[in-house]
Amino acid sequence: MSKQIVILGAGYGGLLSALTVRKYLNKSEAQVTVVNQHPTHQIITELHRLAAGNVSEKAITIPLEKLFKGKEIDLKIARVDSFSVDNKEVKLSGGSTLTYDALVVGLGSTTSYFGIPGLKENSFPLKSADDAVKIYQHIENRIREYAKTKNEADATILIGGGGLTGVELAGEIADMVPKLAKTYGVDHKEVKLLLVEAGPKILPVLPDHLIERATASLEARGVKFLTGVPVTNVEGNVIGLKDGRQIVANTFVWTGGVQGNPLVGESGLEVNRGRATVNEFLQSTSHKDVFVAGDSAVAFSPGGRPYPPTAQIAWQMGELIGYNLYAYLTNKSLEKFAPVNSGTIASLGRKDAVAVIGANSTPLKGLPASLMKEASNIRYLSHIKGLFSLVYKL
Ligand code: NAD
Repeated sequence: MSKQIVILGAGYGGLLSALTVRKYLNKSEAQVTVVNQHPTHQIITELHRLAAGNVSEKAITIPLEKLFKGKEIDLKIARVDSFSVDNKEVKLSGGSTLTYDALVVGLGSTTSYFGIPGLKENSFPLKSADDAVKIYQHIENRIREYAKTKNEADATILIGGGGLTGVELAGEIADMVPKLAKTYGVDHKEVKLLLVEAGPKILPVLPDHLIERATASLEARGVKFLTGVPVTNVEGNVIGLKDGRQIVANTFVWTGGVQGNPLVGESGLEVNRGRATVNEFLQSTSHKDVFVAGDSAVAFSPGGRPYPPTAQIAWQMGELIGYNLYAYLTNKSLEKFAPVNSGTIASLGRKDAVAVIGANSTPLKGLPASLMKEASNIRYLSHIKGLFSLVYKL
């Protein structure tokens, strides 16, 4: 009898699980249902470019209907309201309920606000294409307004958090500002772009010489860094810092960190700080019929360190889960998660980047690093397109 596989989320983990499982199980063996709140698969590693208007929404959002064409995969565009792994039930917005023989949870992460007063209400997150579009539209409106009123707050853009998301966003905005300012007859030097980071340095995952390089590259394009000083409170457009300083900015984007999706913590799965714990096969440690991918999971390397919540890890988790679903449902041996770490690339705008590549963490900067970033995007897109055609041929 046909098994029911339900996949929650069509980000990197969910999408790759769905496309990969179809390599091993056909429609008569398993019904595959994917639930996603947006009708598109979003290339979220490119959101910073969309938030600065440097790429079109269409270029980084792929319609799921197109990827799942042929009805081999049943697509439901709905929000997951809740799911219970003890009852084997998923409740969707609109009131419908799904049941399953095997479940994949790939619901990603949400922005973390650390309980900082006023932060959530008064900042823009950057977690989806919608968020990114809103940021760009807002910046454009503020610059248009500034041209009329010369209200400095309209020409002040603050990014909170100097991890990869915040720094990549700063690079894109820095590249965009001169053109946007010119459009509205504003001197681009009047636009302030600030990044505040609680820790002593930005991009702590990279070696110091690359951090210095990134800082110099962005400062040369007008970015001002405030490091070693956390945001402590926000009231309207006034952002308070721990040292007592206040920044008045009409654009404040918060990129201070991510946390597990709250639905995962409420599902009955065993969790560690809101993310589901999984074994080496990416099965929940508490429920063997549930596999967890991407930022919803916390998986540990053989050395005991958690894998970071990155796209490259989520993608590889999805692929393994695609196979392990088949193995689990047909009583075969499951395979262990052994991801390849291709490194970390931080883009610094359109023409610059810093990176550590491969198992030896070879440092790269400038054009070669930018090209690596481009290549990794192309590799991902051609990969999912390859899997898509495989599915389509079934
Ligand atoms: P992060 O947690 O890596 O960085 C958030 C930063 O915000 C930290 O440096 C933290 O010190 C700072 N911060 C926290 N509280 C603060 C406060 N009150 N005031 C000021 N600063 C504060 O988050 P992220 O950058 O969104 O990255 C999330 C994950 O996604 C990471 O694992 C990252 O590696 C991955 N990612 C990777 C890429 C890439 O590979 N190019 C790009 C984006 C994100």
